[in-house]
Amino acid sequence: ATPTAIMVGTGLGAQRGVLFKNATALETSARIDTVVMDKTGTLTKGAPEVTEVIAAGLPEEEMLAMAATIEHESEHPLARAIVDLAAQRGLQEFSASDFRNVPGQGAMAQVEGHRVLVGNQRLMTAENVDFGELAGRRDDLAASGRTVVLVAVDGRAVGVIALADAVRDTAAAAVAALHESGIEVVMLTGDNEATARRIAEQLGIDTVIAEVLPGDKAAKVAELQAAGRQVAMVGDGVNDAPALATADLGIAIGAGTDVAIETADLVLMRSDPLDVPVALRIGKGTRRKMR
Ligand code: ADP
Ligand code: MG
Repeated sequence: ATPTAIMVGTGLGAQRGVLFKNATALETSARIDTVVMDKTGTLTKGAPEVTEVIAAGLPEEEMLAMAATIEHESEHPLARAIVDLAAQRGLQEFSASDFRNVPGQGAMAQVEGHRVLVGNQRLMTAENVDFGELAGRRDDLAASGRTVVLVAVDGRAVGVIALADAVRDTAAAAVAALHESGIEVVMLTGDNEATARRIAEQLGIDTVIAEVLPGDKAAKVAELQAAGRQVAMVGDGVNDAPALATADLGIAIGAGTDVAIETADLVLMRSDPLDVPVALRIGKGTRRKMR
């Protein structure tokens, strides 16, 4: 690589808020054939809002107040949306004890002498909660692209809370531009398979790796590499940092967490998914100049 080509590439990137941390990052960009994208906060805005609330066996307000009591202790974006909704409705939270966060699944605590669980199907299965008559609604909401949070009290299913997280305006265009360059796009998420598939479909992404626990994201990237792929991973969360480090090229969303930004080889200051194909094109342009 000639120093001049590197300087020109780095400069072009900087003008657009695409920050290559070093020459290697720029050179690697030229040979990427697979882009793995985190869903929440990368393809979507990462600001979910509650869209539907279904309660069974206890009043909706009480179910929501119980869920909000648990989520009050959690830092997950889904948790924040549920707490906000309860506050908007003027609901009084209860007091919780024995709070436990289960990464990639949800959280639980004792509330007024009851054991309350809030989380996904994996958590409910592990705790032997059968969703029975609520299962149909749960599945329909997931199939429509909603992220579904389940609520149980003393081992009984009492609620389904659906949330929507708007996709970023340019996410579909970014996927199309990558496909145009012959690059495969993969969605990687901890969310439910049906939810992830619906959103991937909207964005034109054909490969989905869903229901991945936070600690397993890096292993999924390594599997693609073992299959001979040159992988760029795009992410924003603390969860994504190991995967960003494992990938041939780690790309952080500028609006993401500090850990993601520190770990990445490349940072997208505008948090615009379209800057992914832009960065890879700058890499290719630099390589041409190096020959
Ligand atoms: P992502 O890959 O979307 O960032 P996470 O690994 O953080 O996801 O979480 C995966 C899934 O675990 C979420 O989609 C949700 O179903 C569930 N989950 C995690 N934390 C919580 C919580 N505090 N409340 C409800 N559900 C949660
Ligand atoms: Mg994310």
